[in-house]
Amino acid sequence: MILRLRQATPPDRVQALRERLERAGLRTVLSSEPSRPIVAVVDKVDADLARELAADDAVEEIVEPRGDWRQVHRAFRECPSTVQVGDVSVGGGAVVVIAGPCSVEGRELMLEVAQRVNDAGAHILRGGAFKPRTSPYAFQGLGVEGLRQLKDAGEAVGLPVVSEIMDAAEVDAFVDHDIDCLQIGARNMQNFTLLKAVARAGRAVLLKRGLSATIDEWLHAAEYIAAGGCERIILCERGIRTFETATRNTLDLTVLPLLREWTHLPIIVDPAHAAGIARLIPPLSRASVAAGADGIAVEVHPHPELARSDGPQALLPSELAGLVADARIQAAVTGRVFHA
Ligand code: PEP
Ligand code: MN
Repeated sequence: MILRLRQATPPDRVQALRERLERAGLRTVLSSEPSRPIVAVVDKVDADLARELAADDAVEEIVEPRGDWRQVHRAFRECPSTVQVGDVSVGGGAVVVIAGPCSVEGRELMLEVAQRVNDAGAHILRGGAFKPRTSPYAFQGLGVEGLRQLKDAGEAVGLPVVSEIMDAAEVDAFVDHDIDCLQIGARNMQNFTLLKAVARAGRAVLLKRGLSATIDEWLHAAEYIAAGGCERIILCERGIRTFETATRNTLDLTVLPLLREWTHLPIIVDPAHAAGIARLIPPLSRASVAAGADGIAVEVHPHPELARSDGPQALLPSELAGLVADARIQAAVTGRVFHA
């Protein structure tokens, strides 16, 4: 249950209400929303107490979440939230572009891609150092050295960086290398130990939708991160497994208007891992921004045929520039701005 209190409710009144609930054995969480007190009641409220709360004149509205998610629920904030990644705000009406190679492959290449990504007008640099590969014989990433190369490239061009974390034991390495945003990949969306660990890292988290995850399961995963003390969560739709085999996955754009109703978290779209085919990415990106995405995440490589992972879905740097130009137009058409 989420209790949206009247705007003018004084802090001691909010505190008294929380104590009343906690005396009844119920855990509560106070939203960081500055414009009004909002209290999430984590545990189930019995009928008598629910009646008492409904009659409380400090309570303006009671919202019953459809799932067991509270802190990521739309009603837990007044406006959709924005998430700071370095100096870039994700959400809140500005469209951002995340781009970079699937894997960090080496210092020179990483720097070249970073320059091209920055020149194209993208905002956040990506690159995988720990790679979740289907085959144990495929390139597994450069590990900690990859984090170093990614961060150095980002700093060289002035872009914040995002990279996938696969193991709770890696959190310190990500923090030590000042990785601005920790990506939870599709394969780890329900790795609850990892979700709890990244929540404690004090960094923004990009939570990709699981390969076959329902929206409800995805939001529960986000709630794990919120419950662990991290408010800076970005959701990323990246396609789901369906019966279709013509593409790598099936991009589910339905989530964009639906999640706007269900959660305050920003939502970006990764059409690259959805389609798996580079030439399909520009139209899917346009559709994503038109349907309300807060951003797009794509992969870029100067020689896709030589890429050590995901070459078939890598855009050329010149193609990224076109995608960024399109995103700018789509943002304007839908009454938003393209992040500066
Ligand atoms: C990636 O971003 O390179 C990646 C592995 O993505 P996903 O987890 O969506 O497959
Ligand atoms: Mn990839």
